[in-house]
Amino acid sequence: MDIGEKMMNIAFIGHIDHGKSTLIGRLLYDTGSLPEGKLEEIKRTCEALGKKLEFAYIVDALEEERKQEMTIDTTQTFFKTSKRSYCIIDAPGHKEFLKNMITGASQADAAILIVDASEGVREQTKRHAYILKLLGIENALVAINKMDLVGYEKHAFDRVKKDVLDYLKKLGITPKSVIPVSAKLGDNVVIKSNKMEWYKGLTLIEALDSLKRKKSDYYFRFPVQDVYEINGERLAVGNIISGEVEVGERVVIYPERREAKVEKIIVFGKKLRKAKKPSSIGLVLEGCDIGRGDVVCKGRPPVILKEFETNVFCIRKLEVGGTYVFACMTQEVDGKILEIKERIDTNTLERKRGIKVLGECEIGRITVRLKQPMVFEKFSDVAELGRFVIKENGEIIAGGIIA
Ligand code: GDP
Repeated sequence: MDIGEKMMNIAFIGHIDHGKSTLIGRLLYDTGSLPEGKLEEIKRTCEALGKKLEFAYIVDALEEERKQEMTIDTTQTFFKTSKRSYCIIDAPGHKEFLKNMITGASQADAAILIVDASEGVREQTKRHAYILKLLGIENALVAINKMDLVGYEKHAFDRVKKDVLDYLKKLGITPKSVIPVSAKLGDNVVIKSNKMEWYKGLTLIEALDSLKRKKSDYYFRFPVQDVYEINGERLAVGNIISGEVEVGERVVIYPERREAKVEKIIVFGKKLRKAKKPSSIGLVLEGCDIGRGDVVCKGRPPVILKEFETNVFCIRKLEVGGTYVFACMTQEVDGKILEIKERIDTNTLERKRGIKVLGECEIGRITVRLKQPMVFEKFSDVAELGRFVIKENGEIIAGGIIA
């Protein structure tokens, strides 16, 4: 089986208090993915505090545990179905979450947009959905949550469903399913509800299992991390982020477009004939010098950009005329913002022109001029080379996507 099909990263998005944590807790519980005795432990803690148990506390408890353990591997939470494992992408703060999504700290294969049936579409519902569009995430499900609060009524569901679909349509997103659920009581999450006979569609977990992961196979791309001189040979090390390579093949090094031949592929001191994504390798090339930030490629040329227009999500302030560092994988180049073409209001989808500054959490379209060309790909072809971050004093202040 394809590894990609066995594991999927799911982002839980939606307006605050619409039930993201509760839904995650419910999924973990109903799929039997919680550690032994965890729920009982949380129940006891709640009783001691005189509180009623809430499923959202499961997420808090796991979060707390992680903080104490402080190990890198435990920053992820998983649940499993008979089909595959899912890794949950969720960040404590709204801003942090958007930053992780846009910078690729967490890469989602699919997303569940959660909307409160009693409140309907709100500001963050829209902002999060817009991020999906920026990232080109096509695998989206909508969970209309808290159906218990609207008496499990079809017309309440239909009203919110229409609003969500109207907005998503404007962004060009077609969700695979829109599902009425109650995360709190467990309706249509893992267990089919008997309170909504009018709904004939899939449960949330069935809808997740029926999503197909996009195949991410592209030509050989190898961003060089470092070059070491070993026994008179120059060894370029890095990760293969797409495709495969073989000894004897001709490759091209970008951005300067220099040709070379693969003389050796070395992994942990051993020579290999062939290597493919995802692996960490060393390359010895014949006929060409190479350095950090170069990208070794085969097949169709990558996208080389020096002056270009792009969409950005702003984490801090970004100003016209400002000089910043643009970073994509191992490349770092100085560049200037020539113009902010427009700012997009994710609430109304209105575009405002004549702006000089983009502020926190704002989305806009900018023109950039780099000091030297950088190597990119369209985000939909190779995600790692399709996104970049903008830094100021070493801190990430914005993220962009190459569409
Ligand atoms: P988040 O901010 O999106 O993570 O929202 P939470 O999961 O923390 O939920 C916010 C509040 O909504 C909590 O008090 C939950 O108990 C409540 N809630 C979540 N899902 C449901 C639901 O299906 N029905 C009802 N009645 N309340 C819910």
